[in-house]
Formats: sequence, C-alpha cells, structure tokens
Amino acid sequence: MAIVILHPGKERPVVQRHPWVFSGAIARIQGRFPDRGEVVDVQAASGEWLARGCWSDGSQIRVRLFTWNPDEPIDDALIRRRIERAIDGRRRLGMLTDDGACRLVYAESDGIPGLIVDYYAGFLVVQLLTQAMALRRATITRVLAETLVPRGIYERSESDVREKEGLPPASGVLWGETPPDCVHVRLPGDLWHAVDLCTGQKTGAYLDQAFNRWRVAVHCTSAEMLDCFCYAGGFTIAATRVGARHAIAVDTSESALRMLRAGLALNAIATPVETVAADVFQMLRRYRDEQRRFDVVVLDPPKFAHTQAQVERATRGYKDINLLAMHLLRPGGILATFSCSGLVSSDLFQKIVFGAALDARREAQIIERLTQSPDHPVLLTFPEGEYLKGLICRVW
Ligand code: SAH
Repeated sequence: MAIVILHPGKERPVVQRHPWVFSGAIARIQGRFPDRGEVVDVQAASGEWLARGCWSDGSQIRVRLFTWNPDEPIDDALIRRRIERAIDGRRRLGMLTDDGACRLVYAESDGIPGLIVDYYAGFLVVQLLTQAMALRRATITRVLAETLVPRGIYERSESDVREKEGLPPASGVLWGETPPDCVHVRLPGDLWHAVDLCTGQKTGAYLDQAFNRWRVAVHCTSAEMLDCFCYAGGFTIAATRVGARHAIAVDTSESALRMLRAGLALNAIATPVETVAADVFQMLRRYRDEQRRFDVVVLDPPKFAHTQAQVERATRGYKDINLLAMHLLRPGGILATFSCSGLVSSDLFQKIVFGAALDARREAQIIERLTQSPDHPVLLTFPEGEYLKGLICRVW
C-alpha cells in the first residue's frame, strides 16, 4: 500500500481527525503511486502512522480519511459497518418509516466520505461523489440492497464535487425497480410531498429543510405568505396546511412548480396558491414598486457561494433579497431567511441580515435560529458538514 508522507507540521488536522488531506500538505508518496480511489496510509514527516484513507488524483483533497485505527482495513466490512450505523441513527430518530423520507448517509459526517444516500418511501437515491466511492459502487449497492431491501436503488451522481474529482456525471438504476416519475413521501408534520427522484434537483427534494418548514408554518395561520425560491413548495404546503389565507410561490423552475401543485393536491389544500415562474430578484423589485405587502416572506435561495472567491458576491446577493423582502413585510411580519452556503458562516449571515434591516429602516428581532434537520448530523471533527442556517425574524 502506498504511504502518503506529510510535510513537517502538517499532521495536526489529521491527528484531530479532520477527514481531509489537501495536496499542499503532502511531501511525497512512498511506494507505488496510488491509483484513483485506492487505499493509502498517511504518515507524519517523523514517520509516525496517522490514519488511513482513499486517494484521489482529481480534487485538491487528495486523501479522504476513513480510519485512525492502524488495525482497521478499508474493506467491504468497514463500508457495511458504517452504512449500518448511519441507518441505525436515522431509525432512532424515528425518520426511517415506510412512507417517509430522510438522508440515511451523510458522507464525511457518517464516516463515509463521498457517499450520500437518501431514502424516499422505499426507494434509495445514491450519490457517489468521489473516485473512491465510484470505485466501490458495487459494494455500496449490495450493502444497501441487503440491509434495507428497498424497492429500488437509483444513482444521481451529478454534483459539482464529482466534477472536481474529474468524474463524469452518472445516473441510472443500480438495483431493483426504476422509481416512478412522482413518488409520494410523508415528511415531518404529516406533510405529503410529490418528489421526482430521477430528474428533480439534488436527489429529488431538499430534505434538510424538513423540520424548518414546520417552524415557519407556526407563523402562517391566516397569513398572506410569499415563498421565494419555493422549489416543490415545502414552505407553502406547510403554511397552507396550518391555514394561511393566501400564498404566492416563486421559482424559476417550471417542473418544480408542477411538483408543488401535485403536493397541494396530495394534501387536499384548498387555500388559493399562486405559482409564479420568475426570477426572485426581479420579482421582489416589482412587488416593492407595486407596494405589495405580506405577513410572511420566506427566502430559501440556492447556494450563492461555491468557492471562497464567491463569498463577497454571495454576500451582496443575500443582502439584496433580504433588504427587498423587509420592504414587503407588514409591521410585525415574519421573515424566514436561509443560506445554504457553507462558506457563509452563521455569524456573517446574521451580519448581512442586520445590514439589510438597517438599510430598509426596519427593526428586526430574531425569534428563532434554524439549521439543517437531524438526519444531516455534524461531526465535531468536521464542522464543514454544517451548511444550512436560517433566521426567523419579526420585522417591525
Ligand atoms: N425552499 C425549497 C428549496 C429551495 S432550493 C424547499 O423547501 O424545498 C432553491 C430553489 O431556487 C431551486 O428550486 C431553484 O430552482 C430556485 N432558483 C434558483 N435561482 C433562482 C432565481 N434567481 N429565482 C427564482 N428561483 C431560483
């Protein structure tokens, strides 16, 4: 097995069990140069054994670590143990139910860097994001099929992480049945959602917001709400279920709005809901000019910052929409505002919303802070696993 030897002084994060070794930390490779995804040992410059992981020649993250125990091989049995442990965690959360949906395996945070597995009412959607995981596709499929006996396992390896790894996108059935165009799942709060597993965004749904929709809905009884970046309408469905008076849901994706309408029908919702296919930035400006007013505005934009270099631009984007949204709120109204850019810290995000309130000349109180749902756990040694933050603010 090849040995990756670090530069002097670069062992600290590895000793502290951070699972990534960057190319800049590596002094040299001892032994045969590893193939893509192959197992390697990592040593300090002193020669001390530190950890074991899988090699990647694509991204700047050259090694993703799986174990800090020299006696533990990275083999099929390790993959099986880790997957079983991850699934057990979701079961204990009560989130693995026949008709439910949740994230079963959350990559680094579950000790399996590069592997995402989401569960949707008997179907599994898998993302193999690294060279190591792509190489172990057959093992992962077998373990998942044996452990859960799902109706089908479908691959959706299409993320930007995969591109950085130098892997082409891959999708298709890995095992069992092809998921139907529209799978019905029951989410927390007994909300039914229509999900398109094969062509929807991410693995079909934004499971990380499952509990937050409910936290926002608390404020929506009799409200006129505006759901910006609504996708399949998670926030709209929750709000109308608790008796919102009227909702406008905005997204650029027509297919997302179709799923939203299917979701409203599934929940037998009679509240009038307007679905608008438009750019939120433009639409918020139009509503501001028309002096439209709402009781609740939700802002759940896509990731604005993919790299450190994009953080400044992302900051301006968040400020812009938050400022516009504050103009649209009636006094005492609720702004539920989110950022899923991991590179924008919760501190920075709060500062952005503060700046928006100042410029809008509105007083705002934080009522609640939100984060990703508990099936997206954050490993203490890998804080990068935390990315979603939200503020529910009352705006006077
Ligand atoms: N709130 C959703 C998840 C939103 S994900 C939920 O609870 O499930 C972000 C959404 O923003 C995506 O559906 C994407 O299509 C949409 N989007 C991206 N840029 C947009 C823009 N400029 N205007 C409107 N929608 C946009």
